[in-house]
Amino acid sequence: MNLDFAARIRNLPPYLFVELDRKKQEALSKGVDVIDLGIGDPDLPTPDFVVERMAEAVRKPSNHRYPSSEGSLEFRSSAANWCKKRFGLELDPKAQVCCVIGSKEAIAHFPLAFVEEETVVLVPTPGYPVYHIGTLFCGGDTFYMPLLEENNFLPDLNAIPADVAEKARIMWLNYPNNPTAACATKEFFSQVVDFAKEYNIIVCHDAAYSEMTYDGYIAPSFLETPGAMDIGIEFHSLSKTYNMTGWRIGFAVGNPDLVAALKKVKSNVDSGQFEAVQEAAIAALDSDQSFVDKMRDIYTARRDVLVDGLNRLGIKAQKPRATFYVWFKVPDGDTSASFCARLLEEAGIVCTPGNGFGEPGEGYARMALTVDEKRLGEVLERLGNCL
Ligand SMILES: *Cc1c(COP(=O)(O)O)cnc(C)c1O
Repeated sequence: MNLDFAARIRNLPPYLFVELDRKKQEALSKGVDVIDLGIGDPDLPTPDFVVERMAEAVRKPSNHRYPSSEGSLEFRSSAANWCKKRFGLELDPKAQVCCVIGSKEAIAHFPLAFVEEETVVLVPTPGYPVYHIGTLFCGGDTFYMPLLEENNFLPDLNAIPADVAEKARIMWLNYPNNPTAACATKEFFSQVVDFAKEYNIIVCHDAAYSEMTYDGYIAPSFLETPGAMDIGIEFHSLSKTYNMTGWRIGFAVGNPDLVAALKKVKSNVDSGQFEAVQEAAIAALDSDQSFVDKMRDIYTARRDVLVDGLNRLGIKAQKPRATFYVWFKVPDGDTSASFCARLLEEAGIVCTPGNGFGEPGEGYARMALTVDEKRLGEVLERLGNCL
C-alpha cells in the first residue's frame, strides 16, 4: 500500500530527541544505571485521598455511561470554586468552564475553532511543541515569538510586525514557563491584553505550572488581568499539581464565547473524560491543598541541591521560582546537543537539549527535578567526574 501522508503529517517537525533516545536505550541495554532528568513527569504518586475517591467512584454504575463532553456540572463547579479561591476569579461554571482530557488535548483542539489556511498563530519559542503542532494541523501559519534571556524570557510584543499581528487570531503564552521556568509579571499580562485588543487576537494561556511555585511566589492567572476575560482562555491541568499525569484531566476557563467554541469542537471529537476520573479530580480541587504545599517543599529541597551543586561545578544555573525545571546555559565550547550527548555517554545522565524546544533554546539545557535528593547527589558526583 502506498501511504500518501497528509501535509499535516509530512510537515511535522523532526523529533529532535531521536538521537538522544537512541543513546539512552543503548546505555540501558549495556546495563548503565541511567538517571533520567529529561521528561517532566512527576516521580511521586497521586495522593491517597484522590486514589481512594477514584476507587469508590469506579464502582458506581452511574459513572459507567457516556459522560458529557463538557464535564459534569459538579466538576465544572469545583474548578470554578478552585479558581475563585486561588485567583479571585468569578466564573460561571455553566458558561465559563470546560473539562478537558488533559490540557494537551484542549491545547491541540482549541485552534480548530479559529485557525484555517493563512491564519497566523503567535507561538513562543523555545516552548511546548503542541502550540505549533495544533496550528499545523489546522493548516495555519506559526509566527514564532522568541523568548530571550535579556527579556526575562517574555516575548517582545513590539517585535511582532503589524501585518503579522493583523493576520493573527491566537497568541499562546505559558507562565510559569516550560522550558525556561520564567514567570510573567502582571505588567506584561496587561501589555498582552492591550495588544490583543488592538489586533483582535485571542490569548490562550497555558497555566500547567501555576501551582508549582517556590520561595513564597504566587503565580497569577492571566484572567486576573483587567480586560483579559474579554479576549482570554486559560488551560489548567491537574497533572503536575497533583501528580496526576496519567489520569488525563484538566479544565479550560475564561471568556464564555471562547469556552463555548472549545466545547463545540470537543463535542464533535470526544465524549468527555470518565466521570470517575472527574470525581477523583473534584477531591483534589476541593481539598485543603496541603498536599500541594508538601510537593512544593519537596521540589524546593531538590532544586536547592541541584542548583547549588551545579554552581559549585561551575555551571551557572539560577534557582527557578516556579515549575520543576532548571534551565541553564551549557558550558562554553559545548552546544546543547554535544553537552547532553556527553552527559549521557560519560555520566549516564539524561537531560534535554534546549534547542529541542526551538532554535532560541540553543546553548541551553533543561533538567527536571523528578528524581529524589539522593539521586541528585549522584547526578552531581557523576557530573563532577565528567566535566
Ligand atoms: C505538562 C504540560 C502540559 C500538559 O499537561 P496535561 O494536562 O497532562 O496534558 C501542558 N503544557 C505544558 C507547558 C506542559 O509542560
